[in-house]
Amino acid sequence: MGIGDPHQKKDVEAALKRAEAAGLKVTRTGGGHKWGYVLCCPCNQRRTVSSTPQNPSEEARYIDGFVRQHRACA
Ligand SMILES: [Zn+2]
Repeated sequence: MGIGDPHQKKDVEAALKRAEAAGLKVTRTGGGHKWGYVLCCPCNQRRTVSSTPQNPSEEARYIDGFVRQHRACA
């Protein structure tokens, strides 16, 4: 797994695609259990994305929640 790869959990990958579509920045850092993060540039808040979430659909919901909070900023 390297930088630029899609998330291996398709639920999470789909949520990351929605985040990008909403204008947020998705950064793949790789390494360990951290896959990367979703960043809202205007208010500089980020949410870390796990590469090995225990519950992928819940991880996807958290990302969707972040997108809902910040889609108005982007
Ligand atoms: Zn924001």
